[in-house]
Amino acid sequence: ASEASAYGLQAVVEEVHARALPDGSGHLADYIPELAQVSPDAFGLAVATTDGHLCSAGDADAPFTIQSISKAFAYCIALELLGRDKVLEHVGVEPSGDAFNAIVFDPATNRPYNPMVNAGAIAVAGLIQAHAGAEAFDLVLDRLSAAAGRPLDMDDAVYRSEATTGHRNKGIAHLLRATGAIRGDADAAVDLYFRVCAIRVTAANLARMGATLANIGENPVTGRAAFAVDAVRATLSVMFTCGMYDYAGNWALDVGVPAKSGVGGGILGVVNRQLGIGTFSPRLDAKGNSARGIRAFHELAEELGLHVFDPT
Ligand code: GLN
Repeated sequence: ASEASAYGLQAVVEEVHARALPDGSGHLADYIPELAQVSPDAFGLAVATTDGHLCSAGDADAPFTIQSISKAFAYCIALELLGRDKVLEHVGVEPSGDAFNAIVFDPATNRPYNPMVNAGAIAVAGLIQAHAGAEAFDLVLDRLSAAAGRPLDMDDAVYRSEATTGHRNKGIAHLLRATGAIRGDADAAVDLYFRVCAIRVTAANLARMGATLANIGENPVTGRAAFAVDAVRATLSVMFTCGMYDYAGNWALDVGVPAKSGVGGGILGVVNRQLGIGTFSPRLDAKGNSARGIRAFHELAEELGLHVFDPT
């Protein structure tokens, strides 16, 4: 893909968008009431290269909440702030094969299995919260903005919607407090988690953020270092094995790039040293992944030969 001219890449992006567009399968997330209010038909696709090009099609500038895609970035930030050993004391790196909101911990350690499911991400939020206190949200927002190369903000209505209805996640936070994966204030940890999930992005932003990860932490356009190299390597590893929840195995087989999805309808993919990919389509499949986004990634991986184990 690095050899494709920006012009050639733009044609592929438009072609893939057109091919995936008719897929109207899936349903809006409605367990967060505000998410049921979005327009179901939006569909954006964007690809950003590590040399600074951006190609896009459809609703690539339509805003939506990042939701679980933030889990990858929050993990990256926690690794950098606290070091791998400390983070591993609180959350593991094994794929659970469970749904994103499963209430299940590794029986040997009492830790969440990995940082890409809710339990693990709430434990990570607890670590960042304990480290940065009142500055925690601004710290995360600043790093995500550096990755995107523009100032991001939070969707207040989505935040409040989840903060008033998210009893399952609040319950998980308190269970984590009981098992020791959270050692500080469980309510503050889950509040940070809700805020970070409500950060607003577009497919184009996600592509740029992915290109920053692909560029081992440095934004290719601004040159600003958003994340540390070691943290990026670990984050991409965990995205590869755990980023698509209980679809992670199928995804690795067919698409073969580290990725992370969110119930806001976004999917972020990273082709190491080459590309960031962002899709937005809010209808979700039964596993909570964007149905049309998955379709677009399949097409794009095939078209551009993105799979990490492709022979060429
Ligand atoms: N904020 C959402 C939740 O915790 C994120 C879930 C997701 O995107 N899969 O339920």
